[in-house]
Amino acid sequence: MALIVQKFGGTSIATPEKIKAVAERVLRRQKQGNQMVVVLSAMAGETNRFIDMARQIQESPDEREMDVLLASGEQVTIALFAMAVKAAGYDAVSLLGDQVKIITDGMHTKARIKSIDITAIVNNLRKNKVVVVAGFQGVTEDDDLTTLGRGGSDTTAVALAAVLRADKCEIFTDVEGVYTTDPGVYAAARKIDRITYDEMLELSSLGAKVLDIRAVGLAKRYNVPLHVRSTFTENEGTWVVEENKNMESVLVSGLTYSKNEARITISKVHDIPGIAAKIFTPISEAGIIVDMIIQNTRAGEMTDMTFTVPRLDYQKSLNIIKNLEIAGAGHVSGSDSIAKISIVGVGMRNHTGIATTVFRVLAEEGINIQMISTSEIKVSCVIDEKYTELAIRSLHDVFALGDDNPPTIE
Ligand code: ADP
Ligand code: ASP
Ligand code: MG
Repeated sequence: MALIVQKFGGTSIATPEKIKAVAERVLRRQKQGNQMVVVLSAMAGETNRFIDMARQIQESPDEREMDVLLASGEQVTIALFAMAVKAAGYDAVSLLGDQVKIITDGMHTKARIKSIDITAIVNNLRKNKVVVVAGFQGVTEDDDLTTLGRGGSDTTAVALAAVLRADKCEIFTDVEGVYTTDPGVYAAARKIDRITYDEMLELSSLGAKVLDIRAVGLAKRYNVPLHVRSTFTENEGTWVVEENKNMESVLVSGLTYSKNEARITISKVHDIPGIAAKIFTPISEAGIIVDMIIQNTRAGEMTDMTFTVPRLDYQKSLNIIKNLEIAGAGHVSGSDSIAKISIVGVGMRNHTGIATTVFRVLAEEGINIQMISTSEIKVSCVIDEKYTELAIRSLHDVFALGDDNPPTIE
């Protein structure tokens, strides 16, 4: 008997009809002798609708109350899902984050899971029930509701699979797996059969929202076999797995973009010890995650500091910077209409020329690169947001990612 955790995203359960169809799919697996734990998101569009409503009341909504609001979407779907199972003649129980005891820290709207008590789930599985858990939510030690950040239901599913030592964790969504780039942006994108945890970590952190980055991190850490697949077909999807020798021969695995960031530049900062700490400490204390940082040295002991922050935190970051007393600081400028394009592949570790190909292709398309950052297995460029689709298509073509047999390293 296997224990399987299955997570269904918002489009998979967007209507009562779809919830019934998913419940039937889960029951088919249970009838084959498996124990089923189901993690659900809110119905498609609900979380955005809640955020819009909150902003009509408070420009920058109170984060504790925001969590109480956001967590309600998943409460609806788990209840309806448990009803669908019961209507089909089987037994189920819906459990909210606090009923499972998914304990998180108190960082509202982006809380991290600290521990999970498996007692309630295991007891219900023993009674042969389908256990239906609300994704994306938890509770602090002081009983305050929290949410895990957008896309956080993936994280709930993998965390549960890890603590329950599930045989696998299946992430069901509206596409057939992880593709070479967002299939919604470029139809030539190809489904990847197997991808390493490390490549998926990069793709997720760089904008591929098909899997939440913390979910991938947990899967890697606890060695949870992760299968991303479609709710609407029976086809095999993408396995996210440990790296093996053959995988290194693939030059570039995927191409991603993010329009979730904004760029801030502080020109002419004094280039003295402690200046970076002075700038970035108040930003991090405000819970803002800084991504790329570039520091240029100028003649005369001055430096320009450019960095990116989440677009939602752009104004808040600008205000923090403008209120800082930075010795000699010049002009503060920025843009919230940038995009970060990234290419990822473990093959880059021992193959040169990828970055220069990226720069050449962008230049040929007349796209200016505003920032560059690289790691062992990725190259990222910040460009003007309006060129995102053009850049994705050109780079996807030049690396032949849509081909059945893309170029490999000999
Ligand atoms: P769910 O609601 O099921 O969690 P998401 O909308 O969070 O689904 O993620 C699925 C979407 O991710 C797809 O519809 C697709 O447009 C987008 N996506 C972005 N990059 C990729 C990629 N590399 N592979 C597959 N899907 C991607
Ligand atoms: N409902 C939440 C969101 O839209 C969590 C999720 O879907 O994973 O971000
Ligand atoms: Mg998602």
